[in-house]
Amino acid sequence: MSNRDVTRAILEKIKEYQRIMLFRHIRMDGDCVGASKGLKALLELTYPDKDIRIVDAQTSDFLAFLGPDDGPVPDEFCRQALGIVVDTADHQRISNQQYALCREIIKIDHHIPVDHYGCINWVEEDRPSACEMIAALYANHANEMKIDTRAATFLYLGMVTDSGRFRYSGINGDSLRLAGLMLDQGVDTETLYAHLYLQDYEALKFKAYVYEHMRRTENGAAYIHVTADMQAQFGLSFEAACNAISYLEGIRDCLCWLAFIEGEKPEEGVRVRLRSRFMTVNQLAERHHGGGHACASGATVYSREEMEQLIREADADAKKYKATHQGWM
Ligand code: AMP
Repeated sequence: MSNRDVTRAILEKIKEYQRIMLFRHIRMDGDCVGASKGLKALLELTYPDKDIRIVDAQTSDFLAFLGPDDGPVPDEFCRQALGIVVDTADHQRISNQQYALCREIIKIDHHIPVDHYGCINWVEEDRPSACEMIAALYANHANEMKIDTRAATFLYLGMVTDSGRFRYSGINGDSLRLAGLMLDQGVDTETLYAHLYLQDYEALKFKAYVYEHMRRTENGAAYIHVTADMQAQFGLSFEAACNAISYLEGIRDCLCWLAFIEGEKPEEGVRVRLRSRFMTVNQLAERHHGGGHACASGATVYSREEMEQLIREADADAKKYKATHQGWM
């Protein structure tokens, strides 16, 4: 099915329902929040009579400026609703498990497809963001859909954050044209970028600490272990601690980098964020209770030994990549 045909089928399915629930993934990020809020805003403008809700018990300090989601809904509401899940590869990672009650489900995602849980599954793994897909849905049917500055701002936010400000692979002319279409709606980028990128003084101190304590393996896997003690010392939220991964980006010869972040409950394991350039890390993540994109994945380790094992595997993967490829930096 072509991109236009699948978005047509999605729109027709949406028209069949009076009630719509939007879902996203656990550990929310700019893309899943932007895509769900952006789609909700588009649909509310286009179909003012429909009752459209986003219910998510989780929150994010970083994204709080986008405003709250809707309050809890009874199961009965879901049973009559169409569920649309954005940016979520497998059903276990959907943040509100009420999705399972919905009469039908549409999946809109840009991750490697592992779980076809929708009656319509629109998956384009080459797209840099789910927000770009929602923007494409709008662009394909602009003659019958409505948009405003607010909806465009949600979508533009996810396009910017999930693509590392339009730098990661997957960005093409279509991405920039769709981003341009959003900017044309009057997005206030100065305020948006201030919300996204201003840093607290304490966070910069933490950044300096990360640079002091990062390590690298012989073959170029850089890593940092953000312990619970460290988070207490710098007064960091878990979310702020997780940002440590971005500080390790861009070290010459280090083709992959990993951040191990301890959470409040040791029995739930240590969150691992994996990133890479040139080489891939999703298979490494899959071997440790995780998965994700070729160059951006997540995993969990359950002991010090597993953490060390994962670092050894990252080192071995980097070694193999360097031995079999040219042109890496
Ligand atoms: P993160 O480091 O949490 O931002 O994750 C990077 C990418 O990997 C995101 O696209 C996530 O959706 C995906 N991801 C993270 N954790 C997991 C997991 N446990 N299983 C599958 N995919 C994951």
